[in-house]
Amino acid sequence: MSTQPTGFSPDQVTPPAGNFIGGQYVPGDGTEYDVIRPSDGHVIRSDRGASANLVDRAVTAAAKAYKTSGWAEMPPRARAKVLFRWADLIDQNLEEMARLESLASCRLINETRHFDIGFAAETIRFFAEAIDKLDGKVLASEAKVISMHVNEPYGVVAAISPWNVPLVLAVLKVGPALAAGNAVVLKPSELTPYSILRAAELAHQAGVPAGLLAVLPGLGPETGSALVKHPLVNYVSFTGSTATGRQVMIDAANSGLKPVCLELGGKSPQLVFRDAPSLDRVADIIAGNICFNAGQVCFAGTRLVVDEKIGDELTEKIAQRLKSPRPGPTWDTQTTLAPIISEKQGTRIEGILKDARRTGAEIVIGGGREQTGNGGVFFQPTIVRNTKPDNAAIINEVFGPVLTVQSFHDIDEGVALADHPIYGLAGAVHTSDINKALLAAKSIPAGTVWVNTYAELSLNAPFGGYKQSGFGRDYGMSGLAKYMNTKTINIRLN
Ligand code: NDP
Repeated sequence: MSTQPTGFSPDQVTPPAGNFIGGQYVPGDGTEYDVIRPSDGHVIRSDRGASANLVDRAVTAAAKAYKTSGWAEMPPRARAKVLFRWADLIDQNLEEMARLESLASCRLINETRHFDIGFAAETIRFFAEAIDKLDGKVLASEAKVISMHVNEPYGVVAAISPWNVPLVLAVLKVGPALAAGNAVVLKPSELTPYSILRAAELAHQAGVPAGLLAVLPGLGPETGSALVKHPLVNYVSFTGSTATGRQVMIDAANSGLKPVCLELGGKSPQLVFRDAPSLDRVADIIAGNICFNAGQVCFAGTRLVVDEKIGDELTEKIAQRLKSPRPGPTWDTQTTLAPIISEKQGTRIEGILKDARRTGAEIVIGGGREQTGNGGVFFQPTIVRNTKPDNAAIINEVFGPVLTVQSFHDIDEGVALADHPIYGLAGAVHTSDINKALLAAKSIPAGTVWVNTYAELSLNAPFGGYKQSGFGRDYGMSGLAKYMNTKTINIRLN
């Protein structure tokens, strides 16, 4: 379907309901929760999550499908064909998928139409194409021994995903895990379940065997925890906050010592030297990034670490650009500043800024809520300066449109400030000096460092964290390989 130039009416979208198990929708039997439109606070519906019993049903069905459907035994290219069909179906239903995504999340319809849905489909294609490129090895051995190293799927993978870019982050797990031959039981955030439920239906339509992919929206401590602890789950793939990641790791360790991969929070630096190619361009990059999804992005470049000679000038340029974003509902194509996901998250942002001010920080611009008059929580793009390294706004992942400013005297001080005491997900260096760029990029402890750009993600470039931003990599061949165990087979020839 071609993209639409206009927005849409949220009341005319009918979202799927329940849990997707065994190729069909099954009503929830766990705790009831409201799915709310963050754009205006309207309750879309109350749903019941999956209880431990329903989790058991889904995982048991997935384990059975893994053993009996032949998915893992198929020639890799046959599996790829099913996944290509799935990607095509997502593309063919672009407008419906885009509306489902924008209805309950913070993702703007302009972005879901032009990025999220297509990118999710392309992610599935990338991993489908990669299946038969992941080779095993024949190892050096004595003449009458053949020693092989082969890859095998784990079996049932538990995947847990957050609300901030719901479909893309869910598909980044489901796509490679299925491609590798596994069965997947996914718990998306119960705040944003609709796009991935519909995508699971399309996967089934494309030929993914019934039971092999289940989607169980529900509360983290109920559905998510039961899923991680289930004895038939062999691998846990988690994206979310560092605090929850820690709990997931504990639960996985205590329930069979399952391997985990954790994609967690960030507090990424924008390290700007006085020889940056163009301060206007740097200001565009930093302001655009801090406003994207209202700052609710794990790799948001939220800490400006700038050469003291250009600090005031650059801060002023960024502040000018932060005045223009227009808050509004996700379904309006004129909106350029997304809502904050919930009242709880809005209050959390206010709390961090209050703490920051109490300990001496100055608010240059913003600092409070935007009043749209239509409900929902919107936060003004904000710059905080005069912050010491232990200030609340520097230490905490805010997950809102808040930029802190710190200045440095020389490269060593700049790199030291860029190094966050807790997080190490991403960062950027802005300079015209390639030597300085590489020195700084190599010195910043983060999984991804961009130079003179920001947030350029590529499906073939591994992405993940250092420090408490997690471990394991999404994207790239490592994003596929992690869903496979490896086995050495030694054959003695007679
Ligand atoms: P949370 O950690 O609160 O939740 C993530 C998921 O875990 C949700 O589905 C949640 O369910 C579930 N969950 C909560 N408790 C448990 C539990 N005990 N056992 C199993 N699952 C549980 O993160 P948010 O959803 O708030 O997402 C924002 C966070 O995600 C930020 O910190 C952000 O940086 C990070 N993130 C990291 C990315 C990366 O690639 N590194 C990418 C995107 C986001 P429920 O919704 O019910 O709480």
